[in-house]
Amino acid sequence: MGKILAVTNQKGGVGKTTSCINLSASLVATKRKVLLIDIDPQGNATTGSGINKHDLEYSSYHVLTGRCTIDQAIQSTEEAGYDVVPTNADLTAAEVELMSLEAKETRLRNALAAVSDRYDFILIDCPPSLNMLTLNALAAAEGVIIPMQCEYYALEGLTALMETITGIRQTINPKLHIEGLLRTMYDPRIGLTNEVSRQLIGHFGDQVYRTVIPRNVRLAEAPSHGKPVLAYDRTSRGAVAYLALAGELVRRHEKSVRELKTERKTGT
Ligand code: ADP
Ligand code: MG
Repeated sequence: MGKILAVTNQKGGVGKTTSCINLSASLVATKRKVLLIDIDPQGNATTGSGINKHDLEYSSYHVLTGRCTIDQAIQSTEEAGYDVVPTNADLTAAEVELMSLEAKETRLRNALAAVSDRYDFILIDCPPSLNMLTLNALAAAEGVIIPMQCEYYALEGLTALMETITGIRQTINPKLHIEGLLRTMYDPRIGLTNEVSRQLIGHFGDQVYRTVIPRNVRLAEAPSHGKPVLAYDRTSRGAVAYLALAGELVRRHEKSVRELKTERKTGT
């Protein structure tokens, strides 16, 4: 079974899509099989993976509303190396349509059950709000990755997200946990960045990834070429940082799998 991770933060512009694309490509570089699911109607993860969002036969909209199977919507990418369930503005309609459908919060989870054992990791790129699409991601996921910029309002926004995660855990998805908080667009020359970063670690401890993603222009340029930064400039600081993040994520994941096995053996 692939590990399903929702990359979410209801704030826009914090690096969710950039992290999804580049973490996916970096996990592929470590020989993992990865599926990236785009559920943000902006379709930036789709475009940034080299797929034309204006020319989709099937998208995550069709999957969520039961108009196609997930297999029909999956596309492979040449340059990026991972598979994608793409999307576009059609998905905006899904929010309303889902309201009248059965199992409206668990449709993505149910769809993923058919393919999850083909992948090592499945990453879900969420829209910048805590809407029904995001709830579908949180119901399907085992862990949540929260990209954030270390700025003044960053911590304030986290409270609402944490409450949502707690709510989901108490209802439809008891196994949901915070996989990690990711500091993005990190610039240690800015005093506030260090201060917010310190507060974040004080509050969340080990849940904060050690890897930080620096502000790097290559990361911002790569999507306009439809490529992850690894395929665009593999020696850039951005590429190196996302490779390091993939390494950290894999190590953490393997450690938790080992711990779970020991727990099962000793019955604790
Ligand atoms: P979100 O998906 O959370 O809205 P994006 O990943 O789209 O955020 O990032 C917002 C903008 O910032 C994009 O233009 C992106 O290219 C740019 N960006 C993201 N991460 C970095 C980074 N580490 N360095 C420089 N630019 C970045
Ligand atoms: Mg985005």
